[in-house]
Amino acid sequence: MNNENLSREEAAERSALISVDSYDVHVDLTNAKDPEFESYPTATTVRFSCNTPGAETFIDYIHHSIDSIKLNGVELKLDEVVDGARIRLANLKAENVLTIHGRSYYSRSGEGLHRYFDPSDGRVYLYTQYEPSDCRRVFPNFEQPDLKAVFNFRITAPKDWVVSSNAVLESQVTDPSDDSISKRVFAPTAKISTYITAILAGEYFTATTTYKPKSKVNSGDIPLVAYCRQSLKPHFDYDHIFKVTENGLDFFQDLFDYPYPYPKYEQAFVPEYNIGAMENPGLVTFTEDYIFVSGATEDDLEGRTNTICHEMAHMWFGDLVTMKWWDDLWLKESFADFMGTLGAKEANHFEDAWVTFANNRKAWAYMQDQLPTTHPIVADIPHLEAAAQNFDGITYAKGASV
Ligand SMILES: [Zn+2]
Repeated sequence: MNNENLSREEAAERSALISVDSYDVHVDLTNAKDPEFESYPTATTVRFSCNTPGAETFIDYIHHSIDSIKLNGVELKLDEVVDGARIRLANLKAENVLTIHGRSYYSRSGEGLHRYFDPSDGRVYLYTQYEPSDCRRVFPNFEQPDLKAVFNFRITAPKDWVVSSNAVLESQVTDPSDDSISKRVFAPTAKISTYITAILAGEYFTATTTYKPKSKVNSGDIPLVAYCRQSLKPHFDYDHIFKVTENGLDFFQDLFDYPYPYPKYEQAFVPEYNIGAMENPGLVTFTEDYIFVSGATEDDLEGRTNTICHEMAHMWFGDLVTMKWWDDLWLKESFADFMGTLGAKEANHFEDAWVTFANNRKAWAYMQDQLPTTHPIVADIPHLEAAAQNFDGITYAKGASV
């Protein structure tokens, strides 16, 4: 699709025109176990307001196919409004209801809803990864960080699967025609950006505990969950992960003087992950390289602790408060890179954490700074393709060093 590259100007125009109240998103993973199925059905209802009735905008959806689009009760003609990755929405009212039924692709590239079949036991695992703009590969949305909304996720999937999302599970309804399938209904999320929404589904191994805060500032007890695929369970040292998580929550709640803002803290270690980790509120995803199958060195544990603390700092800086556009990506990443190391040292007693920072992260920044591709920490990001290029040693490590 040739119009995937949203520009900063287009995003600014869109957020000047509309504000989004909520998304109701139903994702149907009934057939995800079957590799013959390359796509899955989605149904999305968006409620949004427009300050200039009669105006026009567009919603983003990188889709397999679209079955129907209804705007304010009127069925739109698909060949008139669907243009590649965008759907044109004309003649807006002050308050709008948009419903789109379509199908989205299972991803094999780690962008969108990634599906993995474990060659060791045939089990299937799915998870989402969106930053900066791959949420639109799963369901239609206004894909830019400053158009935050409440998300109501409903996921239909095999009943014996683990299914999770940002918010807590509210109820589970068995399919009346097939008792092996159920629909999980999740509570409304806080008001968040599209790129940090998340879905996890599959035959994951699950470990749980409850965090009981020792910090002065806190939001009470928080359920903690850690996930990995079944075949890695013998190597999954979740006790250490929980300990670091509890230490981090105690440390950051007092340091930021603001209670942890979400109702649970889950961490999933997932296969074929393109990056280190992602700060989805309430459901952080990590590369499963952080599960150490031949035992962990001190350096391994320090590195994982740093990443756990980095993602945790984002719950406040990145998730609760978010940059308007991607040129301010450094605001959250330089800060989280610094906080990852601070959390490893101060909360988890890795006494050499700043030595590691100087030798690894800062050296990475020096190296990137000598390349022709170097840029100011506050980068010029005119469009999404530039944003995707900017997750680098300048935005993270140079910013943290400064
Ligand atoms: Zn980060």
